[in-house]
Amino acid sequence: MSSSTSASESWQRQLAESFTDLAELCRFLQLDSKRLPLSSDACQLFPLRVTRHFAGNMTPGDANDPLLRQVLALSDELEYVQGFTTDPVGDHSAHSAPGILHKYHGRALLVTTGACAIHCRYCFRRNFSYQDHQLTGRNSEQALAYIAEHCDLEEIILSGGDPLMLSDARLTSLIERLTDIPHLKRLRLHSRLPVVLPDRINPALLTALTESRLNCVMVIHANHAQELCPNVADACLRLREHGVSMLNQSVLLHGVNDTVESLRDLSERLFTIGVLPYYLHLLDRAQGTAHFEVSEAVAIRLHETIRAKLPGYLVPRLVRETAGAPAKQPIV
Ligand SMILES: *Cc1c(COP(=O)(O)O)cnc(C)c1O
Ligand code: SF4
Repeated sequence: MSSSTSASESWQRQLAESFTDLAELCRFLQLDSKRLPLSSDACQLFPLRVTRHFAGNMTPGDANDPLLRQVLALSDELEYVQGFTTDPVGDHSAHSAPGILHKYHGRALLVTTGACAIHCRYCFRRNFSYQDHQLTGRNSEQALAYIAEHCDLEEIILSGGDPLMLSDARLTSLIERLTDIPHLKRLRLHSRLPVVLPDRINPALLTALTESRLNCVMVIHANHAQELCPNVADACLRLREHGVSMLNQSVLLHGVNDTVESLRDLSERLFTIGVLPYYLHLLDRAQGTAHFEVSEAVAIRLHETIRAKLPGYLVPRLVRETAGAPAKQPIV
């Protein structure tokens, strides 16, 4: 990359070149789309979206590829399964101010945008209308006023959607505004972009994070070691070199990472690239995601096994989000 300008243009151009068409993705992967249980109706409910970078880490010809499974719109999604709802974590009613979810002590989540670079089929956000909640103009002032008034808040979590979908200019100005609120100590970003679009970690972003007095934490989201290619490793290293503490959260997903080997490989690969495992989430029971569920009994057994095989700091906390609880609920 020759300059910071070309770097920032590059991620937005790459985003525009993402796969949004099932047949095109299948052609790229040399898969016969007619022989797979795909569903264009599922794409109507939640559009297909995959960066070329993420697709590039899939194995051509493998319909069971663990990365492909995360993004492939299957007819399974249309099945109605009891207990799988459109608001499994109670977020629809938890908004304290426009764009703010303040459920836990000392920290609040700021929904910066509804947009994501990739559409993960298991995500509870697939059913969530973010139009009403994202930070636009007046909403953004109200959210910042809420944070400024709540002196018990020490940490703001930029979330979404994906906060790194904001332009450099908007993100920089948001970080500056938060930095000016004296009672804040930490800034956390929950983002999948270091994994699905590593060129997003550009000089402008690194500068914004370095210039803030806030202590920065980035929680990336990878579910499988195969996602963590050398370009992703470079992006995580750049963040770390700029003083950002790096953590990962995953979702336990049937057919993606529900084996001892894949969970162990993921933890080890994360550590190799300077990232510590943080949470392993049980699936939020969102409508259309039942085919990804791993039972709690199997989850506990997997977790016990990796605990016996890995040093404690490489074992993620197995948690579930429960509406109304004061924190994520540990399962074991
Ligand atoms: C998950 C979550 C957090 C962060 O919880 P930690 O346990 O600190 O990672 C904060 N606010 C909301 C609304 C959340 O859902
Ligand atoms: S919010 Fe995260 S998990 Fe959900 S679709 Fe976006 S990137 Fe995927």
